[in-house]
Amino acid sequence: MEAWEKSLRNCITSPEELSGLFHAQGEELGQVARRYPMRITPYYLGLIREPGDPIWRQCVPDPEELHDLAQSPDPLDEERLSPVPGLIHRYPDRVVFLVSTACAVYCRFCMRKRGVGCQGMSPAPVDEAVAYIAAHPEIRDVILSGGDPLLLSDERLEAILAALHRIPHVEIIRIGTRTPVTLPERITWKLARMLKRYQPLYVNTHFNHPREVTEASAKACARLADAGIQLGNQTVLLKGVNDDPLVMRELMRRLLAIRVRPYYIHQMDLVQGTAHFRTRVADGMKVVAALRGHTSGLAVPHYVIDLPGGKGKVEVSSARFSEDGRRLTVTNYLGEEIEYRET
Ligand SMILES: *Cc1c(COP(=O)(O)O)cnc(C)c1O
Ligand code: SF4
Repeated sequence: MEAWEKSLRNCITSPEELSGLFHAQGEELGQVARRYPMRITPYYLGLIREPGDPIWRQCVPDPEELHDLAQSPDPLDEERLSPVPGLIHRYPDRVVFLVSTACAVYCRFCMRKRGVGCQGMSPAPVDEAVAYIAAHPEIRDVILSGGDPLLLSDERLEAILAALHRIPHVEIIRIGTRTPVTLPERITWKLARMLKRYQPLYVNTHFNHPREVTEASAKACARLADAGIQLGNQTVLLKGVNDDPLVMRELMRRLLAIRVRPYYIHQMDLVQGTAHFRTRVADGMKVVAALRGHTSGLAVPHYVIDLPGGKGKVEVSSARFSEDGRRLTVTNYLGEEIEYRET
């Protein structure tokens, strides 16, 4: 067994296990964890300094999760946009391929909270998904997601990469993974050497707070970068975690210093169980405005909203606001005018 697999065995999976370490109301949180699973790696647990801090908020269940019933479990209509199970084909030239339903840490704000880590969601049947991609020459970019693709063994992941690599019209492969943040020991030399064989390969990771940039995560990113892999980062704007201009600026700077290029800042999707993390778009704009000009242009990602109903991502900078500031009108890549309501 590899070291990272041992770490996964030593995760905390129930709030009761926290009460020995912190003052937390295990019982109430247990109810939340039964609905939306909990898992925290020993490494990520070690980053918590006190209950309610930005690391805690991201990984410890919160009773608020059960009180948010207004929203939809799948506002982006991913399930309707699946031609085969586990494949999301929304844009003409690229697909998201859900290869795993497990993650090292179950983020409380996850956009796929409806299924990630739950029994009900199963990973895409690989052969069926690969056959679909092979039969659609317009697909030139395949994004492996989940769950976390790096929770697969090297062998299973390599089998998927090899199958995609053999398809002549697949020009690039991307992997979205949070393991450099939550389970940095997953990024072994062996993994980096394997990934190197499937270039051009892009890895997008998911840091949300400057305290997640540690020696261990820097080492994980360096291994990937040394294998010639382009590293990007997708951050989600989260209340009480990074909705502060100085925190966000520090995060972006620290990412560049570990050779990770900020790619997106996401407005929180309107996903059931996550309302307590949602910030207003106008506040998000203030956070992003504190980047441009104030620091390296390389540290300035695109601030985007993924529109409900699978209408695609749009840049917030192009939105027009209603007078009360709560409704936005945006034009998506198809030229459709869409109204976006915050609540
Ligand atoms: C975000 C996303 C992509 C990739 O979008 P890029 O802007 O190219 O990074 C592709 N498909 C789906 C369904 C997505 O949600
Ligand atoms: S790593 Fe990504 S997919 Fe997994 S729980 Fe966190 S946000 Fe969701």
